[in-house]
Amino acid sequence: MRDLYISNTLTRQKELFKPITPGLVGLYVCGPTVYGDAHLGHARPAITYDTLVRLLRHLGYKVRYVRNITDVGHLEQDADEGEDKIAKKARLEQLEPMEVVQLYTERYHEAMRALNVAPPSIEPRASGHIIEQIALVRKILEAGYAYESNGSIYFDVQKYNKDHHYGILSGRNLDETLEGTRNLDGQSDKRAPFDFALWKKASPEHIMHWPSEWSEGFPGWHLECSAMSEKYLGREFDIHGGGMDLMFPHHECEIAQNVASRGTGGVRCWMHCNMITIQGKKMGKSLGNFITLFDLFSGNNSVLSQAYSPMTIRFFILQAHYRSTLDFSNEALQAAEKGLSKMMAAKREADAMAASSGAPAPGSQPSEAVSGIIEGVYEALCDDLNTPVALSGLFEAVKLINSAKAGQAKLSAADTAALKALFDEILCGVLGLVDEGTSDGKSVQVIDGLMKMVLEERKEAKAEKNWAKSDAIRDSLTALGITIKDTKEGTEWSL
Ligand code: ZN
Repeated sequence: MRDLYISNTLTRQKELFKPITPGLVGLYVCGPTVYGDAHLGHARPAITYDTLVRLLRHLGYKVRYVRNITDVGHLEQDADEGEDKIAKKARLEQLEPMEVVQLYTERYHEAMRALNVAPPSIEPRASGHIIEQIALVRKILEAGYAYESNGSIYFDVQKYNKDHHYGILSGRNLDETLEGTRNLDGQSDKRAPFDFALWKKASPEHIMHWPSEWSEGFPGWHLECSAMSEKYLGREFDIHGGGMDLMFPHHECEIAQNVASRGTGGVRCWMHCNMITIQGKKMGKSLGNFITLFDLFSGNNSVLSQAYSPMTIRFFILQAHYRSTLDFSNEALQAAEKGLSKMMAAKREADAMAASSGAPAPGSQPSEAVSGIIEGVYEALCDDLNTPVALSGLFEAVKLINSAKAGQAKLSAADTAALKALFDEILCGVLGLVDEGTSDGKSVQVIDGLMKMVLEERKEAKAEKNWAKSDAIRDSLTALGITIKDTKEGTEWSL
């Protein structure tokens, strides 16, 4: 097996990866809170850890990949205040909270399938693990690192910090953390502002609650990941991933809960991927630059100058190293689209060349140039998942193929077989990029174009007050399962 190096946030070092159980990797990644459609920010961790899983499997490891679904306990202000995000959506849309969860879990899966993100081995839900979370609260109470206050249970950060280091992951110390926190207003049940909820007593209007010995209530957001990672991966496991925004307080609290309840931080290697900015700014609903993945696929968003295929987005994300920031712009996505199309054209060419040159003679080896490229691609991927360097290696292969096609270079049967394998196993297998020119992606683009034509036709009919025709178009679309909605910006459609 090749040596694989991963940057560990905990030790702040690039380390040689050695799983606790030889050959088997336990990986836990914080998944989405399912109260709305997945956006550009969700795509990066999903694609990063999918690529990691694909690489580990390609290198010969078995991977137990757990990615959770947060469906309870994540409050509006990411802290211990505000309404539950899912309950709020349910109230606004007049749905049952579990209807919201079901709807957005399915839509998340749909977006992930489009991005060719393979499903995790286990996808546990927080609401399905209330018993485990209550048991964990009990353990932390018994260990003396939590206290009860008005039916809620809070983690005693100060007490914990006397025996251990609260802030070990994010490199903070409690005094600094204190400076960033506002004072308690006297309304809170907490003893100190940095204490966090393990269990919250439900207020009368709070609809998602469960019985416990302390109160009718619900678990704190950080608790689920400690409970579910231990349940499926054990007391200690190999890798915990997530976005950089989760490092503090979410992951810091997870470590504190793990140490308090089972005497170990539980995770050998913490891996964090950086954020995506939009034209240099953070993405946010209030900032008016919020882009969902379905917006990107359809082009239906004023920030977008066109639709972008799922593979263009995947390629765009892989063009940057996962630890560096990545800035979204139409220009950058258009450049990614061009790069991907060049890469896929060369892949098709390599397939054709390998087919026409036949099987290489037994014992024949690819040229130094070809084996150098292949070696470089593997080295990059095993060097902390350096996908941009791996992609530039693949572009070297594209150059070679194109010059062979133009008659300026000669490739042997061993060369074309090796290049075909490189594209199949690395470009498609590990980087997860599929050829949309020959698969579903193309039909998405074709449908998009056809829908534009049909909607234009309907717009003209309406302008001519030909209501019979515009209604007939709408009815035919409805019969096909396509819903259209007229908005100020134009007509939107969805399947
Ligand atoms: Zn988590």
